[in-house]
Amino acid sequence: MFLPGNREREREREREMADSGEQFDVVVVGAGIMGSCAAYHLSKRGLKTLLLERFSFLHHLGSSHGESRTVRVTYPEPYYPGMVAESIRLWREAESEIGFRVYTQTPQLDMGARDNPTLQSLVAVCQQNRIEHRLLSPADVAAEFGGAFHLPDGWIGVVTRDGGFVKPTKAVAMFQALALRHGAVLTDHQEVTAVARQEDGSLAVSTKTGRQFRGRKCVVTVGAWAGELAREFSGACVPVQPLHTTVCYWKIKDGESASKFLPENGFPTFACYDEPYIYGTPTADFPGLLKIAIHGGQPCDPNRRDWSTNLELLRHAASPWIRARFEGAVEAQEPVLVQGCMYSMTPDEDFVVDFLGGELGKDVAIACGFSGHGFKMGPVMGRILADLVTTGEAQGVDLSHFRLGRFKDNPKGNSKEYGDQVSSYSQAS
Ligand SMILES: Cc1cc2nc3c(=O)[nH]c(=O)nc-3n(C[C@H](O)[C@H](O)[C@H](O)COP(=O)(O)OP(=O)(O)OC[C@H]3O[C@@H](n4cnc5c(N)ncnc54)[C@H](O)[C@@H]3O)c2cc1C
Repeated sequence: MFLPGNREREREREREMADSGEQFDVVVVGAGIMGSCAAYHLSKRGLKTLLLERFSFLHHLGSSHGESRTVRVTYPEPYYPGMVAESIRLWREAESEIGFRVYTQTPQLDMGARDNPTLQSLVAVCQQNRIEHRLLSPADVAAEFGGAFHLPDGWIGVVTRDGGFVKPTKAVAMFQALALRHGAVLTDHQEVTAVARQEDGSLAVSTKTGRQFRGRKCVVTVGAWAGELAREFSGACVPVQPLHTTVCYWKIKDGESASKFLPENGFPTFACYDEPYIYGTPTADFPGLLKIAIHGGQPCDPNRRDWSTNLELLRHAASPWIRARFEGAVEAQEPVLVQGCMYSMTPDEDFVVDFLGGELGKDVAIACGFSGHGFKMGPVMGRILADLVTTGEAQGVDLSHFRLGRFKDNPKGNSKEYGDQVSSYSQAS
């Protein structure tokens, strides 16, 4: 029988192992959603796993904190919907294991001009992937969502069933708790400075505090720090541009029926394919407020952020959009609550999932560059990373779009027929 006392002793032994330089099967560097999911999948497979984080666990300095992240299967690229479908299954599996919920399902409403090339591609991908979807006229959209949305003539709405949102901080905590339960060792305030091959073939993972941990394999999931760390670890060039961005909450006007904006009343998560791309979630994070944000941000140094909010941009781009879409139901002058966050952009807005190569060969896998749309993929990325470091390849998923090699011949990476979705705004704009 597995007694709590035994478990505590085992945990203590694992902690001693970390300090004694004894070897782990896998050392995971970076405890955002990707590292936490990887640690969960690895430890669940019975591998001796160590998860290292440079700041305090569940901090707000990276990309995986806050109140909500959209889940949607709708993508203009054909290679994402299948991954989202697997991720949704894994979100539910983890929820059953822990005994509470982090994912609230709602419909997803994508909207934009009928001839918008990105939206057209998204509809084509729905058709190719047999994703149940409905194309609605502006009048149909108004009727479907209790009169909440007003779309101009010439626009369409695309409604799918598998939308909704995940609570990010709670989700990261869930995967860390599950990883612990499966025997992983979790250590924070350990900034990893080097990963180096040892004479016996193992990897030494060194931290700024002077500690050294040993692993057979290593997973690097360091978000916006990926570019600088990959260079330090192996000399690899990983083109990831950090952007400082903001999540904005806008007040539903007094007297307006706030209940129509609630997920339990069918209000969807939504995205508007226009310049800029605007997205939002139902009222769930804060009573009486609607999350509506611009998909973009200002280039930043993750170690020296100024945390400013580009209010001018919000007034110029978000306010008119809110006035027009919600016809006066939401205070559009400026947001009442703003939270800072970081995107890690690749030139083509596709992920990087690969081995670091060089001297580290296939013993160090890296996953980064999630370009503002990675959170929903956390569980499937954890599974893929666990596959990569155990068997050298990921089952059932084509990683060719995510390889680092795509930037060698073409610095822009994968070619796409439509424009960027994420806007990069200079500080001055
Ligand atoms: C405002 C905003 C809205 C978003 N909306 C959505 C959405 O609606 N849907 C969606 O799917 N995605 C969304 N995303 C994207 C999603 O949140 C990210 O793709 C995801 O959180 C990236 O996770 P990560 O683990 O790669 O990075 P992070 O969460 O940044 O984790 C990296 C971790 O590595 C640690 N680290 C860095 N360097 C070191 C080191 N040397 N040693 C040890 N640890 C280190 C960092 O401290 C950090 O904890 C959004 C992102 C933002 C910012």
